[in-house]
Parts: sequence; structure tokens; C-alpha cells
Amino acid sequence: MLNRRQFFSAAAAGAAMLARGTKAFAATYDLIIRGGRVIDPSVRLDAIRDVAISGNRIAAVEAAIAGDTAETLDARGKLVVPGLLDIHTHCGRSPVGPAKVLQDGVTGWVDAGSQGADRIGETIAVARSSPQQGRVLINIGRAGILPEGDTMDLARADVGAAREAIAANRDFIVGVKARLSRDVAGQNDYEVLRRAQEVASSFNLPVMIHMGQTISPLGKLMDLLKRGDVVTHLFAPPPNSIIDDGGHILPEVLAARRRGVWFDVGNGQTGHMRWDTIAAIMKTGFWPDTFSTDWNTNAHETGVIDLPNCMSKLFGYGMTVDEAVARGTFNASRIFPFLNDRGTLNVGAPADVAVLELRKGKFEFLDNFNNKITGNQRFFPIATVLAGKRVPHA
Ligand SMILES: [Zn+2]
Repeated sequence: MLNRRQFFSAAAAGAAMLARGTKAFAATYDLIIRGGRVIDPSVRLDAIRDVAISGNRIAAVEAAIAGDTAETLDARGKLVVPGLLDIHTHCGRSPVGPAKVLQDGVTGWVDAGSQGADRIGETIAVARSSPQQGRVLINIGRAGILPEGDTMDLARADVGAAREAIAANRDFIVGVKARLSRDVAGQNDYEVLRRAQEVASSFNLPVMIHMGQTISPLGKLMDLLKRGDVVTHLFAPPPNSIIDDGGHILPEVLAARRRGVWFDVGNGQTGHMRWDTIAAIMKTGFWPDTFSTDWNTNAHETGVIDLPNCMSKLFGYGMTVDEAVARGTFNASRIFPFLNDRGTLNVGAPADVAVLELRKGKFEFLDNFNNKITGNQRFFPIATVLAGKRVPHA
């Protein structure tokens, strides 16, 4: 059966032939990604399929797509998944960041609080010139991330300054970030989060908290989170991790998930992940909603490497390939409205696609305490298609 687009395209080709009386040739598609294992968690699809693209949209996902195409991408033996979405990065710190993560298959990113009100223009400028969609969270600390701690000086958690910055940049600021660890906010953690919510509530925006190693008990902080907010670094080891010494997830954490708070990995390089804590949390079944890298320009030289690598770290704890893909695509698309039409290969959706290879073998994965585990499979980025165009390999 021809779909509507194909029908009109075929009809147009026929008309052109009649009109010119010549052998007309109209490519039905601009690109067909052939023969890959297509995993689209938005429709629970996991099967060998072709993916056809016309212009910047997905045109068909079928077993064997006939028809002409301007370009073919051979994906046999590879995974074909929606473009990856990374909701906790620091891409906004570097003008080359977005292009780098695009090579990793990331077709949408959020800079999670690199800057506050004073210099938010810098991260927004990077987002504006990004090849893929990029947006920023404003750090409630007006000077952004500081080595001495963003909000150790509580005056930096300036509600008025943050509100003004958001009002002037509604198109690029998609939430408020509150970093709450003892070396970032000290004793101020609860008040900093309260102020972040005060700012966010004026604009109906989510707050993302950076949890772990706080002074206030986590349960007390959880009570300030509303539906749609995000907790990043959910695997942070004690003090104040999401799990108690007896192996139980805190009741306030369970309640937060029930009311629609999201829990994100936020891999990063320091403090946020330790295998023993991860094992205990995974065992309870309280799994992350999303993977994210907490990306910085040195990611490839650290245990982060790239989002596909971070998405491979939980296979040894029982996560399946499909579940990992969902957490790097569809789940992330539900959190921020600018990503709502992404994370899917539905016909008509923007044609953002990541081609990954699932290699089998022995792979070493690092936590943030230099502990290694060995896994037997790992995702590697092979190719990225953004808005229907294949991204040239760097
Ligand atoms: Zn971060």
C-alpha cells in the first residue's frame, strides 16, 4: 500500500512522464536506512525493518521498503533507534560541544545549569547555534557552577535575577537547576531548593536537583519536588542516597516517583555513581527513568565516554537492550516539552536517528570511584541522522 505521501509522489512522477513524454524518475525517498534492528520503545517495536525518510521526516518503517531513494544507509547487523536525548549535559560550556555529542548519536540535549542569571547568555548562545536542538537549565546560583560552591553564599540564590533571566529567554530556558551537595550548597541546600521552586513556579517550569552527599536528609528535600521535576544522580552513594542501609528505597523517594518526579542517572565524573550503591538500588527495582552523561568536553577521556557507553552500564544489573534504549530516547522525550516530538521513529516524526552497534565481548565500565566492572556488551555510536540528513563523520 502506498501511503499518502508516496501516492502523491508517484502520481506526480506519472504526471511528469505524461507531460514531458520522457522517462521520468522521481526518488520517492531521500534516505532509506536498510536492514537494521529497529528499536522504537515509543511503539514497543523491536524488529528488522527499513526506515525511509522524506525531507526531514520519517516516511515509513516497514519490513522491506520498495521505492527509489536518493541515498541508502546499510544498517544490517546494527541497531537503528530514535536519535538519543541527553537531559543532563554541560554542552553549553563549549561551542564545539553540540557537534561532538552529535557524533555520539545525541540529537537533543539539555545543559543542566552550567550558568546562572549573570552569564546565562553564554550557554544560550551555544544552544542557539547548535546543529541539533539544545536548551538550558538556569542555575539558581546566579554565578553558575563555582569551584567554591554555587550557593555557599546564599545571596547568590537570587530569585529576582533568575526570574528576569528566564523572562528574557523563555525560548531557551526550560527549567531551573539546583545543585545541593554539601560542597556546592552547604547548609543552604533546603533554602536553595525552596528558592529554585519559587522561580520555577512563576513560569510553570521543572526543577532539576543534583542530589547526593547533601547536609539535609534527602527525604526532606524530596518533599519540595513537584510532578515533572527531575532528580539527577539517583545512584549517588551515601550520605543521603535514595536507599537506606537496610536496602530499602526511602519512602519519600517512592512517593516522589508516584507523583511524577523523574529519576535520572547523570553519570558525571565525581561522586555520583558507585557500583555497590548501584547494585543495591537496581536490586530493589527502582530503576532510572533516563540515562544522561553530565557531559563535559573531556568525556571521551573519562569513564563517561559517550551516552551510548553510559547506556550500557546497567546490562549486568538486569537491564535489557530495549529498556536501555527507552531510557536514552523515549523516556527523555517526555520530560521537556521541546523534546516531546522526538524519541520516536513514528511516521511523520522528525527524522532524527541514531545507528548503534551492540558489540559483544568484554568491556570495562568505570564508576566515579575508579572501580571497574566488566560487561559483555556495549553500545557504540556508528552514524547519526539529523533532520533527515546523515551527519558527516568527524
Ligand atoms: Zn552536571
